Amino acid sequence: MKVYIGLGSNLANPETQVLSAQQDLAKLPLTQDIAMSSLYKSPPMGPKDQPDYINAVVALETSLSPNDLLSQLQGIEQQHGRVRQRHWGERTLDLDILLYGDEQINEPHLHVPHKGIAERAFVLYPLAEIAPNLLIPKFGHITELLASCPKDGLERLEKNEI
Ligand code: AMP
Repeated sequence: MKVYIGLGSNLANPETQVLSAQQDLAKLPLTQDIAMSSLYKSPPMGPKDQPDYINAVVALETSLSPNDLLSQLQGIEQQHGRVRQRHWGERTLDLDILLYGDEQINEPHLHVPHKGIAERAFVLYPLAEIAPNLLIPKFGHITELLASCPKDGLERLEKNEI
């Protein structure tokens, strides 16, 4: 199954957190990495008195079930020393299942497509970079979603800025 994972970090050297999380994802069991977006910098959502975020999106091919994938992602977050301080507050690493093929999952602990997928610039722009023709179940074609999603200060980082 082709899946897309959203990555975000704003603590403890965020660029390094995101790059090493990309490598951790590629090493998951029953999984191969297919594509990785550039890194992006975005102003914080929620409380503003926290550092900017570094975001990226990774495409994987996996045979893990959605729930097994979610627990693997939570394992990687823990390895990165994630401490949850406050809602929408700073974190060393956040990993979200954005899409799991074209499945729609609505369980108490797992919503796919991810609820914020259509309105968050830091998700949509990196996703479009690696999947420019994506049709997102429930939400529509990615080019239409991008057209109504302001960049909100999102910046793509060049390799020499990392
Ligand atoms: P967050 O603060 O974004 O890390 O929220 C984590 C919680 O969101 C976890 O307890 C997950 O069970 C839940 N969750 C719901 N849908 C998803 C998803 N698509 N990907 C990752 N976590 C999810």
